[in-house]
Amino acid sequence: MADMSALLAEAQTYIPGGVNSPVRAFKGVGGTPVFVERAEGPYLFGADERRYIDYVGSWGPMVVGHAHPEVLKAVHEAVDRGLSYGAPTPIETAMAKKLCELVPSLDMVRMVNSGTEATMSAIRLARGYTGRDKIVKFEGCYHGHSDSLLVKAGSGALTLGVPSSPGVPASLAEHTITLSFNDSDGVREVFARLGDEIACIIVEPVAGNMNCVLPKPGFLETLREVCDAHGSLLIFDEVMTGFRVALGGAQAHYGISPDLTTLGKVIGGGMPVGAFGGRRDIMEQLAPLGPVYQAGTLSGNPVAMAAGLKTLELISVPGFFESLSEKTRYLVVGLRERASKAGIPFTTNQVGGMFGLFFTNEPVVESFGQVMGCDQERFKRFFHGMLDEGVYLAPSAFEAGFVSAAHDFEVLDQTLRAAERVFNRL
Ligand code: PMP
Repeated sequence: MADMSALLAEAQTYIPGGVNSPVRAFKGVGGTPVFVERAEGPYLFGADERRYIDYVGSWGPMVVGHAHPEVLKAVHEAVDRGLSYGAPTPIETAMAKKLCELVPSLDMVRMVNSGTEATMSAIRLARGYTGRDKIVKFEGCYHGHSDSLLVKAGSGALTLGVPSSPGVPASLAEHTITLSFNDSDGVREVFARLGDEIACIIVEPVAGNMNCVLPKPGFLETLREVCDAHGSLLIFDEVMTGFRVALGGAQAHYGISPDLTTLGKVIGGGMPVGAFGGRRDIMEQLAPLGPVYQAGTLSGNPVAMAAGLKTLELISVPGFFESLSEKTRYLVVGLRERASKAGIPFTTNQVGGMFGLFFTNEPVVESFGQVMGCDQERFKRFFHGMLDEGVYLAPSAFEAGFVSAAHDFEVLDQTLRAAERVFNRL
């Protein structure tokens, strides 16, 4: 049986921090990260031979559960036909068509290799289309690690306390205007002053990188309204929410149509995939049709397309999202009941298959400041208590959690029994 500390020590010799993405290092909660051997259904299996009920799901992609037999079969068949061709394939068209069918605002899409690439490219396209430089984002939202977007960001940037990274030139960051999520008045005020210089607003329609904060009624509508009034583009970053909160993404759930949408995570079924798409007249500005350049050696990779397309087929089955939402609701309601019995101030947010846990007395309905005000120390104790019980939560108080279709009620009940014991010890 492998010793996690030894694995970490060796990894740290060759990889900065021993990890290839910062939050994995457990800096937000302390302790040694779980090194994973394999995963199946709702479970991760650690190198320590322990089994964990997994609520991270590779940070969102594994919505049908790990190692789903049909997804693996599609991948195996694709692998047998070769790994990459660098030429167009029918499966890329099938994927693009499926995305356009499922997400109401998509006329055309372009595939990329990560969420970061999707948002970076969408921002370039918005700037190219409008001929403007300024962009608006919201504090605590994370849109990947490209320069323009790593300003007051969420996720790992927030967990590590460096929301605005060194290495981003001030001359670039000055084009990024950061406002408060859910602050419609702040948005109107900035657009009244600078609207005609703003290329786009980029927003996570449900903020999932500062824990999980839902849009207040009217907030997304205001974004649509000011963009229309000033000729700016509205970009919904649905890398996390796409095919996670509803089949048509958050835009279908809230009934708002963005000009551009960025996708990732679920659409790759666990393979490295992103996409951006939207209105035809905007997408036609992309090379080779238009002047805005964007490219990728491995974009639309056939193995990745096979995993993603099969995952999209599996989640298109009627009732999939109703069942996923019901399970997620069962989990968060159960957690609240048990916390309340133990006298622990605790609340939750949830939409579709994503959720947030907060150690606080008040409902978290506003924004970043409120999330920062929650009891982070108690979260850390809860996290480690649950890990000891064999439940793997996101190792940070600033990340959303995810339930998959493979989490059945027995698994959810096991989680709730574990939580009851941990709440009683907090
Ligand atoms: N946008 C959002 C909303 C995300 O949650 C993430 C990743 N968590 C990204 C963009 C970046 O995606 P990736 O990590 O695949 O580059």
